[in-house]
Amino acid sequence: MKAQYNRSQEQIIQVLKSLKCGISAQNLYLELKNRDQPLGLATVYRALDALKVRGTVKSITLTSGEALHSLISQDQHHLNCVECGQSFPINECPVHLLEKRLEQTHHFQVYYHTLEFFGRCHQCSTKSVL
Ligand SMILES: [Zn+2]
Ligand SMILES: [Zn+2]
Repeated sequence: MKAQYNRSQEQIIQVLKSLKCGISAQNLYLELKNRDQPLGLATVYRALDALKVRGTVKSITLTSGEALHSLISQDQHHLNCVECGQSFPINECPVHLLEKRLEQTHHFQVYYHTLEFFGRCHQCSTKSVL
C-alpha cells in the first residue's frame, strides 16, 4: 500500500527519515527552514496529524510534556532518568510478537506501540549517595 503524500507531507517524511530520533513539531519547523523548504507551523501540525492517522508517523510525549514525532518504522524505546531527564535509546523491542497476537485476536490494525522505562541512570544513582 504505497499511498500518495502531498508535498508538505513528503518534506516532513524526508526530514524524519534523516533523523535518528524523534523531533518536536517546533524543531521540525526549524529544520525545514534550515533546509530551505519552509512550511508554516500550522501546516507542519496539519501534516503531522494526517501522517499519524495514516500510520506513517507516531508521537510520544516525554516527561517534559514535549511531543516527539518519528516515523513508525523507527521502533525505538528509551530508558528515561527521572532525575536528570536524559533519555537513553535502547535497541530492542520485546513486544513485537504480542503486537501480532493482539492484531489477530482483536482484529485491530496496530500502527505502533509505546513502551518507556523510567528510573535513575547510572550517573545519577552513583553521584547522590548521601
Ligand atoms: Zn540521570
Ligand atoms: Zn517496540
